[in-house]
Amino acid sequence: MSNQTMSDQTRSVQVAALGLPRIGPRRELKTALENYWAGRIDADALYEVAAGLRAANWARQHALGIGIMPSNDFSLYDHVLDTSVMVGAIPAFYGWQGGAVPLDTYFAMARGNQAGAQAACCGHGAHDAPTLGVRALEMTKWFDTNYHYMVPEFEPGQIFTLASTKPLDEFNEAKALGYHTRPVLLGPVTYLKLGKSKDPTGDPLALLNAVLPVYVEMLSRLSAAGADWVQIDEPCLVLDLDERSRDALRHTYGLFARAVPNLKIMLASYFGELGDNLACAQSLPVAGLHVDLVRAPEQLQPLLAGARRDQVLSLGVVDGRNIWRADLAGILDRLEAVIVSHDAGPIQIAPSCSLLHVPIDLELETDMAADLKSWLAFAVQKLKELVLLGKALRQGREAVWAELNAASIAIRRRATSANVHDPAVAQRLAAITPAMARRTSVYEHRRNLQQAVLQLPAFPTTSIGSFPQTEAVRKARAAHGKGALSEADYTGFLRRETEQAVRWQEEIGIDMLVHGEFERNDMVQYFGEQLAGYAFTKHGWVQSYGSRYVRPPIIFGDVSRPKPMTVEWSAYAQSLTSRPMKGMLTGPVTMLQWSFVRDDMPRATVCRQIALALRQEVIDLELAGIKAIQIDEPALREGLPLRRSEWQAYLEWAVECFRLSASGVEDSTQIHTHMCYSEFNDIIDSIGRMDADVISIETSRSKMELLDAFVGYRYPNEIGPGVYDIHSPRVPDVEAMTELLVKASDRLAAWQIWVNPDCGLKTRKWEEVRPALVNMVAAARQLRASLAEA
Ligand code: GLN
Ligand code: ZN
Repeated sequence: MSNQTMSDQTRSVQVAALGLPRIGPRRELKTALENYWAGRIDADALYEVAAGLRAANWARQHALGIGIMPSNDFSLYDHVLDTSVMVGAIPAFYGWQGGAVPLDTYFAMARGNQAGAQAACCGHGAHDAPTLGVRALEMTKWFDTNYHYMVPEFEPGQIFTLASTKPLDEFNEAKALGYHTRPVLLGPVTYLKLGKSKDPTGDPLALLNAVLPVYVEMLSRLSAAGADWVQIDEPCLVLDLDERSRDALRHTYGLFARAVPNLKIMLASYFGELGDNLACAQSLPVAGLHVDLVRAPEQLQPLLAGARRDQVLSLGVVDGRNIWRADLAGILDRLEAVIVSHDAGPIQIAPSCSLLHVPIDLELETDMAADLKSWLAFAVQKLKELVLLGKALRQGREAVWAELNAASIAIRRRATSANVHDPAVAQRLAAITPAMARRTSVYEHRRNLQQAVLQLPAFPTTSIGSFPQTEAVRKARAAHGKGALSEADYTGFLRRETEQAVRWQEEIGIDMLVHGEFERNDMVQYFGEQLAGYAFTKHGWVQSYGSRYVRPPIIFGDVSRPKPMTVEWSAYAQSLTSRPMKGMLTGPVTMLQWSFVRDDMPRATVCRQIALALRQEVIDLELAGIKAIQIDEPALREGLPLRRSEWQAYLEWAVECFRLSASGVEDSTQIHTHMCYSEFNDIIDSIGRMDADVISIETSRSKMELLDAFVGYRYPNEIGPGVYDIHSPRVPDVEAMTELLVKASDRLAAWQIWVNPDCGLKTRKWEEVRPALVNMVAAARQLRASLAEA
C-alpha cells in the first residue's frame, strides 16, 4: 500500500450521524406535548416547537462539521409509531377514515384518548397504558435499550397505504433551511418483526409484500425530492434470525434496488454483532452498510474480509449507548489500520447507533465534579469526537494534536483516579466465596424457621412496597430539596406519613406490612445517592417513552456503601407495630440495568460490587430486627441479551448477584423478591435458582401467563401472583381477586401462595388503594375459609 493510496482513502472519510435526541436540551418537547394535551396550546404551536427542535439539531450538526446529517430522526412521540402511521397501520378502533392522519389519532395510538390515564409503576420500565376510552397501542422495550416503542398492531386483512409523508416533509424542511440530509426510515423487515399480527397466522412477516409498495412509494418520492441517500435501519440484523427473515431482507432490498435504482441505501445495523447474519447483510444490494463496532469490535475483521469495493462501510466507532468519552487515539489506531488494509470502498465513521439513548449536552452540567465531567461525552460531545476523528484521518493526527492529547489525558486520569478505584472494594470482590451466594440451609428447612418467627396465616397478605406518592409527599420532597423545608420538618412529615400507613395496614388486617417508601424519589436514585461510585446529572434526560424521560444515574467508580441506607426507616416502621415489617431494597441487577454503567470493567463485576453493598444492607436490616426483606428485581428479565446464545452467561451472573445480596442472613430471615411481569417461561429455572423465599410477580392482567410458566416447572418456594392491576384506576372487587387466587391454587400448593397487588402503589391514589386492599384482604380470608373447609 503506497502512501498515495492511503491518503486517497483517508481523504474520502466522511462523518455521519444516525440520529439525535429529539427532546431538546431543556426538555422543550415534553413541555410542548404536555401543554398540547392539556389544551393550553394548539397543534400549530406544538408543530412550531417541533420544527424548532429539528432546526436546532441540524444547525448544531452543521456547525460541528457533521458531513452526513439525518432527517426524519425526529418524532413527536416514537419513531415506530411514526412508521405505523406512515404505512397506514392504524387499527380500526381508532376510527381513521383514510387521508391525512389527525394528530389526535396519533396521540390516541400513543396514549389512549383519556389524557392522564397512563400509569407506569416505577417510571423506568413502561407498561401498557390502559384508558377508559380508546386504548393505546401496547408498548415494549426497543431492543435492549430503556427506550420503549409503540407495538405495531396488524389486523386481519391488514392493508397498507401511504398515510403520512413525514420523511419527505422533514427532508424538504431541512432542504428549505439549506441542509441536504440523509432521511432515516425504520426498515420494513424490522418494523414488521416488531409488530403483532391479529391475523390467524399471527405472522407479521406474511405482510411483507403488502407493505413494500408503500416503502417504495416513499423512497421514490424522496428520490424525486432530491435525496441521493437514505438510511434504512434494520437492527433486526443483530438478532437470531431464521432463514425466512433473511429471505425477507433479500427480497426487500432486491426490490428496492430495482424499484428505486438511483437512491442509495445505507443499511444500518446496531446494538450488536451481525454474526451469522453477516453474509446475508453483505449480500444485499445496498450502497452502504453500517455496523456497530462498539458493541461488537470483533466483527471488523470478518466484515473487511467480505467487504465489497462498491459499498460504503459505515463504522460505528463512538458509543451511542453510553456516556463515556471515547478513546480517540485507540480508535484512530484501529481506523488507520482499516483504511490501509481496506483498499476498496469508501469509509464513513459514525456513532454506533442513534444518539437517542444518551443525553444531549454535557455542557449543561455546570455543577458536576470536574474530573467526572472530563470523562464523559453526551450527544454533542460525541459528534465532536467524530469530527475530530474525521479530521485526524484526513489531515493526520497533527492537525488535532491538542484535542487528542486532552482526550488521552482524561482517559489516563480516569484509569488511575482514586475516585474510581477503591482497593477495599477490589479486596472484598476477590474474597467472594461460593458459599456467600448460598443460604445456610435449603428452602424447606428455612420455611419452618421463618414460619415460627412470622406466624403468618395461610394466604398471607402483603403489598409490594410503595404507597401513593401524593401531592403532599411530592411537595414536601421538593420543598426539602430546595431548602425550604428543614431536615427535621421533612423527617417529621415522612414519619407521620409512614405511621399512618402502618396504622391503616394493621386496621384492615394486612399480615406483612410495608413502610410505604414515602422517603424515596425513585427506586434506583434513592440508593444510588447513598452509594459511593454513583453520580447524577441535572439535565441528563433520555427518552424512556413518549414524553416520559429519565435521568439514569452514572456508575463511574467502584461501588460501596458508606453507611446504612434504609435501616432507620425500616426500624422506625417496625417499631410502630408488632406485625412483621418488610424491609425494601432495589436489587443489584436493577441498580445496574437502569444506570449508565462504567465501560472499563465487565458489567458482571460492577453488578457484584453493588450486590456486596446491598448484602451489607440486608445484614444490617436483619440486625435491626427486620424479619423479612424484599429485594426488588424488576429489571432482571429485561437484561437478557439480544442473542439467545448469551442468555446463559448473563443469567448465571445475574442470579449469582441476587444471591450474593440476599444470602448473608440467618435461615429464619425471609427474603422476598419482586418482578413486574410474569413472562418468564424461558427463564423460570433461573428465577427458581434465585432461591428467594417468596417472589411476587405481576399476573392480574394476563391471568393465563402465570399458569403457562408453571407448566412443567414446579416453583419450589412461595409466590405471590399479583391479584390487583395497579396500572388501572379501577378498584378490583373481592370476587375478581378470589377467582384469580383460585386459578393460582390450581397450579400451586396452597401453602405457596401469597396475596398481593401486581406492583407498588405509588402511582395510584389513596381513594383507589384503600378499597382495593380492603377487598384483597377479604379475598384472602375467603380462601382461608375454603381451605379450612376442605
Ligand atoms: N418496591 C417498589 C415499589 O413498590 C417496587 C417497584 C417496582 O417493582 N417497579 O414501588
Ligand atoms: Zn413491580
